[in-house]
Amino acid sequence: MNRHSAEKKELVSKLNERHDLSDSELKTLIESAEPDTELFQAADALRKKVYGEDVYTRGLVEFTNYCKNNCLYCGIRRGNPQVERYRLTEEQIHQCCEAGYRLGYRTFVLQGGEDPYYTDERICALVSWIRKQYPDCAITLSIGEKTRESYQKYFDAGADRYLLRHETADEELYRMWHPEEMSLSNRKRCLFDLKDIGYQVGAGFMVGAPYQTTEHLITDLRFLQELDPDMIGIGPFIHQKDTPFGHFESGTLEMTLRFLAILRLMFPDALIPATTALGTIDPQGREKGFRAGANVVMPNLTPVSARENYLLYDEKICTGEDAFLCKGCLEGRVYGAGYRMVSDRGDRIHMTP
Ligand code: SAH
Repeated sequence: MNRHSAEKKELVSKLNERHDLSDSELKTLIESAEPDTELFQAADALRKKVYGEDVYTRGLVEFTNYCKNNCLYCGIRRGNPQVERYRLTEEQIHQCCEAGYRLGYRTFVLQGGEDPYYTDERICALVSWIRKQYPDCAITLSIGEKTRESYQKYFDAGADRYLLRHETADEELYRMWHPEEMSLSNRKRCLFDLKDIGYQVGAGFMVGAPYQTTEHLITDLRFLQELDPDMIGIGPFIHQKDTPFGHFESGTLEMTLRFLAILRLMFPDALIPATTALGTIDPQGREKGFRAGANVVMPNLTPVSARENYLLYDEKICTGEDAFLCKGCLEGRVYGAGYRMVSDRGDRIHMTP
């Protein structure tokens, strides 16, 4: 065994035992040229210890691609005139949930751009309807930055989870990725408000995005330690040709898997999805994600006619098939990788310290 691989082995076992490393140790691990075999094995073993072989599902409804924001990486930014805009009607959203429930999903995620048409009143009406129809389901919102009062209203209407990736925890990088009117401090404020209100919170970041360095990514890990989210969503940055970042290289499978495994070892009881973006950069991306410690998938419930317009990035997969086919495909992938797709809300299992 050479010096580098011995050092890496050492770091993996230290991270596995302590669930933390120093910044310089993390940097070595992140930048290592050695294979990740032991890293993945340790992450997989730890996830099996906490969650077994269970993979939880979250039925995803991409209900609007209108967005008032203008994030430089995102395909549905307001500044992209190439997008055919859509918003699902309340009735269509109800139908998505009905189909999802029949398929066995017990968590619904309503995700969209920041669409002013969907006022607090409309969001609350949607949430109350789902809460009443499906009292056994978790309701997750992923609709961006709002005031604390708005978050409180959705919570009171019955929402119990919220996904809001912090994107990057580095001030300077955040500014390079977002228009001037957005700020990292507001994004963080949102996350802490959500937690304080009582939501189960999901944060996360993109891997391999423009201008991002190892140091930035370490800052992301440190921010997650401070926030202690229930869910951590990461995926590779993938360019979208009509955005200002359209000419940048996309993130890699290897680096994303490495981060999935590091996250599992740092946050043993976190819910970590194998994302659609991961499945987009590699045909076996999600299966590889499970083996690196991921334990959630997000099958798409959006009507097929709308899917092809919710393109945050190029070449997005799963845009041509309906909810039923999507389930079959994912189930096959989960079982094929050696795991079990389960039909319950899939709440975080808090590890006793
Ligand atoms: N408007 C909501 C939902 C955003 S879409 C919000 O603000 O939270 C969900 C996630 O897709 C984003 O948080 C971002 O991390 C990711 N995303 C956007 N553009 C992307 C791209 N080009 N490549 C990879 N992921 C992207």
